Amino acid sequence: TKYVYLFGKKTDGNGTMKPLLGGKGANLAEMCRIGLPVPPGFTITTEVCTYYYANKRTYPAALRSQMEAGIASIEAQTGMKFGDLENPLLVSVRSGARDSMPGMMDTILNLGLNDQTVEALAKKTNNARFAWDCYRRFVQMYGDVVLGVQKRPNEDHEPFETVIGTLKDERYGNHEIEDTKLTVEDLKELVLRFKKLVLERAGKDFPSSPWDQLVGAAGAVFGSWMNDRAIVYRRKYNIPTEWGTAVNVQAMVYGNTGDNSGSGVAFTRNPANGTKEFYGEFLINAQGEDVVAGVRTPEPVAQLKNHLPGAYHELERIRATLEKHFKDVQDFEFTIQEKKVYMLQTRNGKRTAMAALKFSIDMVKEKLIDWQTAILRNPADQLDQLLAPVFDLAEVKKAAVIATGLPAGPGAASGKVYLNADRAVAAAEKGEKVLLVRIETSPEDLRGMIAAEGILTARGGVSSHAALVARQMGKVCVCGASALVIDYDKKTITVSGQTFNEGDYLSIDGTAGNVYAGQIATAPSEIIAGLVHNDTAAQATEKFKSFTQLMKWCAQATRLQVRTNADTPEQTRVAVAFGATGIGLTRTEHMFFEGNRIDAMREMILADSLEDRQAALAKLLPFQRDDFYGIFKALKGFPATVRFLDPPLHEFLPNSKEQQMDLARKMNIPVEKIMQRVHELHEFNPMLGFRGCRLGIKYPEITAMQARAVLEAAAQAQKDGFKPKPEIMIPLVGFKKELDLQVAIVHEVAAAVQAEKKVKINYTVGTMIEVPRGALTADEIAQTAQFFSFGTNDLTQTCLGMSRDDSGSFLGAYQESEIMKKNPFASIDQTGVGQLMGIAIQKGRQTRPDIKLGICGEHGGDPDSVKFCHKLGLTYVSCSPYRVPVARLAAAQAAV
Ligand code: PEP
Ligand code: MG
Repeated sequence: TKYVYLFGKKTDGNGTMKPLLGGKGANLAEMCRIGLPVPPGFTITTEVCTYYYANKRTYPAALRSQMEAGIASIEAQTGMKFGDLENPLLVSVRSGARDSMPGMMDTILNLGLNDQTVEALAKKTNNARFAWDCYRRFVQMYGDVVLGVQKRPNEDHEPFETVIGTLKDERYGNHEIEDTKLTVEDLKELVLRFKKLVLERAGKDFPSSPWDQLVGAAGAVFGSWMNDRAIVYRRKYNIPTEWGTAVNVQAMVYGNTGDNSGSGVAFTRNPANGTKEFYGEFLINAQGEDVVAGVRTPEPVAQLKNHLPGAYHELERIRATLEKHFKDVQDFEFTIQEKKVYMLQTRNGKRTAMAALKFSIDMVKEKLIDWQTAILRNPADQLDQLLAPVFDLAEVKKAAVIATGLPAGPGAASGKVYLNADRAVAAAEKGEKVLLVRIETSPEDLRGMIAAEGILTARGGVSSHAALVARQMGKVCVCGASALVIDYDKKTITVSGQTFNEGDYLSIDGTAGNVYAGQIATAPSEIIAGLVHNDTAAQATEKFKSFTQLMKWCAQATRLQVRTNADTPEQTRVAVAFGATGIGLTRTEHMFFEGNRIDAMREMILADSLEDRQAALAKLLPFQRDDFYGIFKALKGFPATVRFLDPPLHEFLPNSKEQQMDLARKMNIPVEKIMQRVHELHEFNPMLGFRGCRLGIKYPEITAMQARAVLEAAAQAQKDGFKPKPEIMIPLVGFKKELDLQVAIVHEVAAAVQAEKKVKINYTVGTMIEVPRGALTADEIAQTAQFFSFGTNDLTQTCLGMSRDDSGSFLGAYQESEIMKKNPFASIDQTGVGQLMGIAIQKGRQTRPDIKLGICGEHGGDPDSVKFCHKLGLTYVSCSPYRVPVARLAAAQAAV
């Protein structure tokens, strides 16, 4: 097996080989192929990672000789030799999963140095200080990430930093002097002390053989695939463990040889707001790690023109080449060594939803991509970022800007400030809105960043850890707000004469980069203002226009329709404005949550005689009829699936003493009577209890009332010119006979209403498929049902035998153990529940070839589930009103 792929003069791989070579390795190969300047090297494949874990952390036998050939190839291209005493080859070792993954071991630089080669490097470069500084950094990095010499819980500082501080104190009486002040002698002494530290802590000598160093570093990369932070990250982004990581070994180039050198990170366009501009930053006389670590604040890339104009123009040329070749915005790392530019990495740039939208629209205009590709370039699960509120304009004008920073993640966020990730998580768990404020962030802060509404840092540029991660998560982020003085010990932030404590409110505008004191009210996104509130100013914004363009393309591509789950005329109006083509589910019991309607509902449930029940139903009928009329009107001729009552009893019973007393007073009956009925009706498993069509089977008068309400409303709406299309849906059907009995009532009432009102109503009757027996006997059920709608909430609950209400306590552990990748109540369990759906579709069509098929469980708004429904050949998905754009985008992506 081939485990090692070369890149350089001879390149084995290419950009399509990400599963095998990882993202970094595949793109290094691709850059070599298109003639960009890349230092030579090789990639060890992800298959070695898989082997490593399958075989007790050992390597395949053939690996060593292939690595030796890889090193030999670098030696031939550079004229240097690994471990050589005159012209030693030094390499970097970097991880490279399919997608870059914060939390994994990142980089070891200057590998190959030891007590002998350092002298050779000093002689060759005629720069002893440079050589010893490289060596000192190498021992420190390697000791930390490969040999595990790290801060212990009882220590305040990294152990290597403590050693440096002590030496500075001894020699200069000040542990805060800059590293650049250290002499060759100091650095030599540091290397000695570092090695001593390694021996004490790791219990072994620092490896001096370059080959031992290389094998150790590769092992550390593979080992880091399973560290906690990497696991947390994979879980959040659903990255399978079995993908594994590759390892890249590459000849070193130096950005820290003096003022003709430097390192930087850049994007071919602005990844925060999408503007077409060269975007990024660099540091003169620095290695790449210094730029992303956020320790020195770098300069914007445009200013490179003033320092090294030749290198700047070369980078502009590379920027254009990259976009033309990859046809997407690239995020790349470069090093300039003595004025010559080298590319160390390129990848598709992480971007906010706003930037993704603008890139996609602009690139179609520039003819870089077609409109179908533009649809795919907008991540469906990020789209709701565009619908998130922005600060209320009037409020923001009144607020005081206390600091400004870089606008790193657009949007508006207000919250209580916390200065540490654990406390931010704890506060968010209590339901507080949280802003995580840090001097700079590191991968340890990931949990806190996930929990926070927004992230604010005092240091670091637009490519700092905070900025990258925030953009990817769609968090609001302002970074490098250098006026903030953050004191972790006192838990305070001091800025322009004011001091804020943990728990105080701050607000940040990640579009402008502003920081405000206090809490600021928000206003709806321009898209919502434009579509739902017909706000003409909002409609004139670029954001609104781009969004509507994208939705137009989606409509052109889509086969699967998107309907909405709506219970009120207002929700219906919103959904139609977002492009819904009908209602897939009206939960009629939800119509009684409002105001004192619940009383009539409770009376109906508690009634213990037909007479009492009919009296309560008579009160419910006009409410329902009015609501249905409003919905038909808002739908403008689109169909409405009206689901008959399905009230899980525990959600509707008056359970508290107060509710019971209140209801007794209103009904003018003794409270004891109510208590008695509540007691009689109590269920141990309400979700499997007296709900769905079971209610109408036992009390047919309920079905009759609902049929009357729907059909009378339809009759009126029809007379008023609104073209209603009611689709009456009977829930929780497992037996054909259940449906037959209910449908008979509907037809009987329909005949009566049509005769009374002298209109012909265009209605259909169908059922939900939401219990396994319904799916398995769908051929029988389809004899009566004119349509099916998959109720995947209940179908998941009953297929998996996991309560939709009570699974929270163990689902987390299930996902951690990778028994299931995603929460099955959020994203369809395709192999299990999906199979039941497949059976129902096939059997339903056997009986009724043109049966209309939809889904109305919560899964209808989940992009992966929507794509699955497209594959199954459903007619529509139905989701909550604000998810409609997400579902439309996912449906279009499934079709292009
Ligand atoms: C379902 O079960 O998927 C469904 C849509 O119905 P409900 O959530 O009201 O039970
Ligand atoms: Mg259901």
